[in-house]
Amino acid sequence: ANGLPNPLLTAGAARSLVDSVDAFLFDCDGVIWKGDQLIEGVPETLDLLRKMGKKLVFVTNNSRKSRRQYSKKFRALGLEVTEEEIFTSSFAAAMFLKLNNFPPEKKVYVVGEDGILEELRLAGFECLGGPEDGKKNILLEANFYFEHDKSVGAVIVGLDQYFNYYKMQYASLCIRENPGCLFIATNRDPTGHMTSAQEWPGAGTMVAAVSCSVQKEPIVVGKPSSFLMDFLLKSFNLETSRMCMVGDRLDTDILFGQNTGCKTLLVLSGEKLLLLLFHMCRIILPIMPNQVSNAVWTCIAIAGVT
Ligand code: PLP
Ligand code: CA
Repeated sequence: ANGLPNPLLTAGAARSLVDSVDAFLFDCDGVIWKGDQLIEGVPETLDLLRKMGKKLVFVTNNSRKSRRQYSKKFRALGLEVTEEEIFTSSFAAAMFLKLNNFPPEKKVYVVGEDGILEELRLAGFECLGGPEDGKKNILLEANFYFEHDKSVGAVIVGLDQYFNYYKMQYASLCIRENPGCLFIATNRDPTGHMTSAQEWPGAGTMVAAVSCSVQKEPIVVGKPSSFLMDFLLKSFNLETSRMCMVGDRLDTDILFGQNTGCKTLLVLSGEKLLLLLFHMCRIILPIMPNQVSNAVWTCIAIAGVT
């Protein structure tokens, strides 16, 4: 009534949202699944949107798998999604190098897992590091000098369950000592659902370790980067005003959509803290004076619950 967007998605609001959108971008963890468990209602919703002729795109910051590996995960959960509809931060890293004409004679040092290695190789780049370097140790004896490959022209840091001191030193030396070496982060999520049971440290923690050592900020290629959004827009010839980004994180998904004028929809099936905050507001605000509750709803709407 006062012209503010309604933070709750009522049936009427949902209908007009769907009518005003041609393409839905879906975050994956917390929206489609939680770890390895499919979220209730997802298959029916995706089916319905496809029948209505909507374009569906799936965008995950999780760099551990390649697009090919994710299409297998979708199929295992009973969802028919093609590789072309999936955008991972591992794929974004490979595309960033390709679109920036990264010289093929240079190598890429990877602090990360197989998803990044596979996407880089598919794009024609030679990689070093990855899970293999997780087995390597350093003997910190007097006068030990750590050698690194001088032809490394980019370091990519993503989630790495084999992260160790060896990789930290390798990545740091390349960035510090190889002229023009790029420092790329797949994403900076502080946490991730490595298992469905609980939250674990995310890629942002590994990025922070390398960033602290080299005293440099990385180029982020996953959500909420403008690189990824521009790449998506070009890949599908989409128009942001008729797109909706659906996510469970304000600092990645909702910001990703709002930076470029997409509609945004925050779901409460993912992040626990947000869910708690939202329900507290629902209980407290109705008993507050109108002006105060309107002001708080406005803040929530600006934060992305629109
Ligand atoms: N990175 C890792 C390692 C994760 O485990 C997750 C979620 O499970 C994410 C990132 C976030 O993924 P998404 O962007 O699909 O929510
Ligand atoms: Ca998510």
